[in-house]
Amino acid sequence: MPELPEMENYRRLLNQKITGQTITQVQINREKSVNVNPNLFINTVTNQRIVSVNRRGKHLLFHLDNGQVMLLHLMLGGWMYFGTEEDKPNRTIQVRLSFGNHHLYFIGLRLGYLHLYNQQDVDKELSQLGPEPLDPQFTAQAFLKLLGDRKGKIKSKLLDQEFIAGIGNCYSDEICYHAGIKTKRSIEEIEENERNQLYQSMKQVLLDALQHGGYMENPLFKGDNLTGGYNNLCLVYDREGENCKRCGSTIIKEMISSRKTFFCPNCQK
Ligand SMILES: [Zn+2]
Repeated sequence: MPELPEMENYRRLLNQKITGQTITQVQINREKSVNVNPNLFINTVTNQRIVSVNRRGKHLLFHLDNGQVMLLHLMLGGWMYFGTEEDKPNRTIQVRLSFGNHHLYFIGLRLGYLHLYNQQDVDKELSQLGPEPLDPQFTAQAFLKLLGDRKGKIKSKLLDQEFIAGIGNCYSDEICYHAGIKTKRSIEEIEENERNQLYQSMKQVLLDALQHGGYMENPLFKGDNLTGGYNNLCLVYDREGENCKRCGSTIIKEMISSRKTFFCPNCQK
């Protein structure tokens, strides 16, 4: 599932491609991908200009001229492609937004969705989300305070979108590996210096992943060499049985609350 770096990468690239552009046509092939009557969706969105593309947690928000917002969550298996009809991927398209002869294709939107809201309702939808980990105002002090005397396993907490928004199964493992902390450690047992390290690791891993375009498998457009560049740079996630690049130990896979977790038994305490 795409996480903060993947969605932020999409946001930056889409801002270059579609911000200021007018949606000339909307095609909805899967009604369940939207939250309102498809005709209402189409009538509300067509001929509107994209004012901006923003991100909150793992969501993207497409702000329209008329004050309406399309809220995207890709969930598991969702991705996007921007291009002409000729170079579109040979996949089932759930929703297509057209900008003249270029189109934004939404693919694999099964659990994922593209919902239409007004600003007030979109604020309400996102009101439960925790702070943005890369927000400059989210300081180490703020993180320590947030972590406080919370209980449970650190990985589960990092995955909790109401605790911090945007971190998922991959980056929670990468962050814990970077910090040298086992994903199944109880928060109560994590010392203050480790908590500070966890904060630094969170910033560093997410920024590094973003700089390398995140881990999406497919490019966003023809000639996009950025998206997916982090796929081969993950150090523990999905690397069960491989050697740790730091110490050579074998990477282990375990389950925590029915989520896969990968870690180095030697580097992480
Ligand atoms: Zn190691």
